[in-house]
Amino acid sequence: MIYTVRGAIKKEELGITLSHEHLYWGGFDVESMYFEKKYEEEKTVQVYHVLLPLFKKLYQTGCRTVVETSPPEGSQNLKLMQMLSRASGINILPNTGMAFSTHIYDIHKHADEMELAKRWIEDFEKGLDTINGVTIRPSQIKIFTNRGKLSEAYKKIIKATVIASRETGMPIHCHILETGTAEEVIDLLERVDCNFNKFLWAHASADANKETMARALSKGMWLGFDDVKKDSLQKYCTLVKEAFEKGYQDRILLSQDYDFYEEMVNSPENQPCTDLFTDFIPYCEEMGLAPKVLEDILVKNPADFFDME
Ligand SMILES: [Zn+2]
Repeated sequence: MIYTVRGAIKKEELGITLSHEHLYWGGFDVESMYFEKKYEEEKTVQVYHVLLPLFKKLYQTGCRTVVETSPPEGSQNLKLMQMLSRASGINILPNTGMAFSTHIYDIHKHADEMELAKRWIEDFEKGLDTINGVTIRPSQIKIFTNRGKLSEAYKKIIKATVIASRETGMPIHCHILETGTAEEVIDLLERVDCNFNKFLWAHASADANKETMARALSKGMWLGFDDVKKDSLQKYCTLVKEAFEKGYQDRILLSQDYDFYEEMVNSPENQPCTDLFTDFIPYCEEMGLAPKVLEDILVKNPADFFDME
């Protein structure tokens, strides 16, 4: 089962998926949405009208699923997501995860990882909210890590995700920008006996460090090659080709990592949020990558990663 804002679907129904995008980072009031289930109605409708043409265009270009990777703290708006999904036919996957500033863990030092994990387990069991008769369950746990040496607060957060993932089956989508941090995260995950098949290193393509990626892959971890843009077609095509040549093409997830609202407001006529379909796929074919390879990466891989038994 994979959980969308319109309810659970089978993994075969997921289709071509953008695995890491943001609808509108920081655009809405976090506390009232996550804790009180209240949405800023007028603003939600306004943003809906800005984003709907993009979702329709994504559908036309073949996209069937978008994964929202703004956690509650990044102002994930379930109501907006459900409206867009209904009107466009695109599945949108919600998440739970970071809901407040990490500094809270520096103040509440004794709040342990179990307490935090409980909150995410509850989000899954009770649902994040029930809207139009649909109990919306998170499809994954979305967290960040800091740059540089992993802070104590982030260690606690990572441990909590492992507990919640073990209990619910939710995969973990973890933002890691630097190679050194990734090494520390892998060390920590080994210590807490994490099921690496449930862990995605988002932004592995940022440093694209060969040795650390090889270490992550040897554990069974997933890699996010998730910043495909017009000016990085060559970089990403090379990364995908290498994955194919070395046989780990079934462990990578592709996406663009846009803030959809920002792009639509800046250039509605010329938005880049469909470039993966209109530019990247044709470019890769030109460079000799078989269309089937990309199709599997965009369809089969996210279906495997997000599926929960
Ligand atoms: Zn992102």
